[in-house]
Amino acid sequence: MRALRLHNIANAPVIDNVDVPVLSPREVLVRVRAAGICGSDHHIIAGHNPLPEYPRTLGHEIAGEVTALGPGAEGVQVGDRVAVNFLVSCGTCDYCCTGRTSLCLRREGLGVALDGGLAEYARVPSTNVIRIPDNVPYSHAAIATDAFATPLHAIRRSGVRPGDACLVIGAGGLGLSAVQLLAAMGAGAIVVLDVDRAALSAASRNGATEARTVEELKDLDKSSLPAHHAFDFVGSPETVAIAIENTRRGGRVNVVGLSDKPIALARGDALVREEKVIAGSYSFDNAEIREVLDLMSQGRIHPDAVIGDRIDLNEAIDVLDPAGNRPRSVGRTVVQLDHTTQLNTHIPA
Ligand SMILES: [Zn+2]
Ligand SMILES: [Zn+2]
Repeated sequence: MRALRLHNIANAPVIDNVDVPVLSPREVLVRVRAAGICGSDHHIIAGHNPLPEYPRTLGHEIAGEVTALGPGAEGVQVGDRVAVNFLVSCGTCDYCCTGRTSLCLRREGLGVALDGGLAEYARVPSTNVIRIPDNVPYSHAAIATDAFATPLHAIRRSGVRPGDACLVIGAGGLGLSAVQLLAAMGAGAIVVLDVDRAALSAASRNGATEARTVEELKDLDKSSLPAHHAFDFVGSPETVAIAIENTRRGGRVNVVGLSDKPIALARGDALVREEKVIAGSYSFDNAEIREVLDLMSQGRIHPDAVIGDRIDLNEAIDVLDPAGNRPRSVGRTVVQLDHTTQLNTHIPA
């Protein structure tokens, strides 16, 4: 089968012909129909997040149909249409036992430490698949995982209530999804910051009440900022500082974007007197993917407005090539897979 694999950092991934994965106990084989490309894929290729082993099949936003079950795989059937939670958790540590699987002490990511879904087939634990409602297409189900479920997790942890003012920094795939979710939940002002005009226009189309560059922030009226909640999908020292500065007393800053740079917080006494909470937020769990899929099924969020580009596996090489000159599209890029590899009988049935 064809798989998009990263052989070494700072180089474009390549399409290799590899064997269809052989299933271990409690795993299922997914014929991948759609897989999103995430900002963290670019980070992995740049070497900000070195992998334990190369080559590695990329792709951690996965949807497709179940084509085979490994021994002991339960709760899922051949033919099921599924979205995949990329984060494989152990099921036995303190965090898994208290329902916070995304904090699992032994977590590993499909498309990160394990082979992912930018391939014709992917093997995944049966506990990581979530059935897709009939009216949700694969391209939407793929981005129901990371692109929508990651901001949903941050929004839930922050405790956003109807009418709350929110600041969203970074209008990429996650930021645009966050805007849609906040609008669907009845947030008040939704102020979006980005450096890119096209991204800001996309934010307005997705429900932002204000879409601005940092320089334009000072012109905002007092009813929009400071925010009750800030969501920083960039996570750089500069953007975290902007988030803290523009969050009101008692508010919460949620840092979602990954950066390997140290973050300087506000003056200590100001932080104390204003009781601001500065929190990290990472990933999501199966229930949050299910909640996103239900919102999609009910038409309360609009994935097509987040998808900037639909491409095939060959084009994904250009998109992920660090030396490439293909312009980055606004929003999520979704790879739609076609299948030239037929399953052989040696695959466990
Ligand atoms: Zn991601
Ligand atoms: Zn665990």
